[in-house]
Amino acid sequence: MSNIVAIVGRPNVGKSTLFNRLVQRRDAIVDSVSGVTRDRHYGKSDWNGKEFSVIDTGGYAVGSDDIFEEEIRKQVDLAIDEADVIVFVVDVEDGITPMDTEVANLLRKVKKPIFMVVNKVDNSMREDDALEFYNLGLGEFFTISSINGSGTGDLLDAVVQDLENDVVIEDKLPRFAVVGRPNAGKSSFINALIGVDRNIVTNIAGTTRDSIDTKYNRFGFEFNLVDTAGIRKKSKVKEDLEFYSVMRAVRSIEHCDVAILVVDATRGFEGQDENIFWLAEKNKKGIVILVNKWDLVEKETNTMRDFEAQVRKEIAPFTDVPIIFTSVLTKQRIFKAIETAVEVFENRKKRIATSKLNEAMLEIVKTYTPPAYKGKFVKIKYCMQLPTPTPQFVFFCNLPQYIREPYKRFVENKLRELYDFKGVPIIIYFRQK
Ligand code: GDP
Ligand code: GDP
Repeated sequence: MSNIVAIVGRPNVGKSTLFNRLVQRRDAIVDSVSGVTRDRHYGKSDWNGKEFSVIDTGGYAVGSDDIFEEEIRKQVDLAIDEADVIVFVVDVEDGITPMDTEVANLLRKVKKPIFMVVNKVDNSMREDDALEFYNLGLGEFFTISSINGSGTGDLLDAVVQDLENDVVIEDKLPRFAVVGRPNAGKSSFINALIGVDRNIVTNIAGTTRDSIDTKYNRFGFEFNLVDTAGIRKKSKVKEDLEFYSVMRAVRSIEHCDVAILVVDATRGFEGQDENIFWLAEKNKKGIVILVNKWDLVEKETNTMRDFEAQVRKEIAPFTDVPIIFTSVLTKQRIFKAIETAVEVFENRKKRIATSKLNEAMLEIVKTYTPPAYKGKFVKIKYCMQLPTPTPQFVFFCNLPQYIREPYKRFVENKLRELYDFKGVPIIIYFRQK
């Protein structure tokens, strides 16, 4: 159900170059965890109409060779656990190194699709040099040059064949993913939700991949919690835990309708929170932010208002998101949190009838026309909501290329005012009729 591609391999083989080529820098976030010499990258990409997340597991610690090998092993273990497809990169210039052999040994036991990629095959002469990689015992491989792009199309063709066609699954129940940094209170929140009378209905059998949904019935709502296994803590090392939790977030966000982002109020809204928010937005999921541990915050008159303002500043321009101040410990606003998540779920499914939409929006765009561009006037004639799983609107006009970002935002804000899409990313297209 999810589509996660992890890139593994020892340093300097070209993982981040390949990553950048796959994601084309459009949609990448960088996770600069202290203690790693290299940033880790998460990005969103698509090929032949299939969307997927790409993770460059490249971060590694400085230190002796031992630590180094240990890091690579962890990296591979994580990828094995969390990714749907693994791309293993080796370097034709160096040939097979002992570390390549070790990684290959780990990967050989894995049941998931593995693509071995011989990188830096910049010219046909190097094709012959690549042959030695058969000795790694992983079978066929792809030869590519991440720098000039040759071979990457064939690689992607093969990779997406192993990905799910459509991550959307038809289920009337909301699917919530509880995400956030380690220690924010996710497991406490889930436990509070589940309650003592653990009302688990079923473990939904997923597709051929492992199922990660559990169905609950609480507070009069029925919903699936995605990936509650995410609360199990695998690693003791801080930066690994951080990385691990982001990997989990990527995975569970892909599966959910609404991401419930738990933030530790005592730490404020930080870079990592922003990353996870961004992931949910990029995946066009509903979002609710819980500012948790509110009981620990010393409050004055405007504390809540100021905190909220700060969060909205960080998440701009997508600020139409519910922010709820909770204390999981004292159970303050737990119900409100789940109720809001259900509302966001409903907002995300919302469909506006074309006639109603035109009636309201054409009036507005006639009153506030797009600014003239090079002496030309843009006329919007018609609009409709697309039959997509998340709200997407198309506005037909004579000169769509002249519509600028501020006007797009204006239209989005009007839609939000009129119809309540709180917590839901909206996509707006301008097209020629
Ligand atoms: P990583 O440590 O595995 O992420 O490797 P990088 O992506 O940082 O690349 C390491 C070095 O190899 C850089 O100097 C890249 O410019 C170079 N490199 C990456 N891909 C290619 C390639 O396809 N051909 C050649 N000739 N160099 C490459
Ligand atoms: P997770 O790593 O996000 O799953 O976080 P946990 O649920 O394990 O919580 C981390 C720590 O914060 C635990 O010691 C919890 O008891 C504590 N905690 C969680 N929520 C709250 C809260 O609302 N108030 C207070 N005071 N402590 C909390």
